[in-house]
Amino acid sequence: MPPVIDREKCIQCGYCATICPLDVIKVSKEKEIIVKYPEECWHCRACAIDCPMHAITLRYPLSHMMLHVDVPGKE
Ligand code: SF4
Ligand code: SF4
Repeated sequence: MPPVIDREKCIQCGYCATICPLDVIKVSKEKEIIVKYPEECWHCRACAIDCPMHAITLRYPLSHMMLHVDVPGKE
């Protein structure tokens, strides 16, 4: 799931837009923080971790939450 910005907490500093490696978050001409390309988010959490107001929530897709277990190969 793409990042969700809590507008009550956000101070529109723009840091999340600066730090996102994929340009998911942008600052509009009106200085509004927008999640412009949500489908491109790869859930690295950089924006959520570095937001000074803890205003960003991320929910991982189900596929990211599944346990991965290596199958033993032939030796
Ligand atoms: S880093 Fe946090 S406070 Fe700053 S613009 Fe982004 S969501 Fe808002
Ligand atoms: S989780 Fe990573 S890729 Fe997704 S919006 Fe935040 S910084 Fe960008």
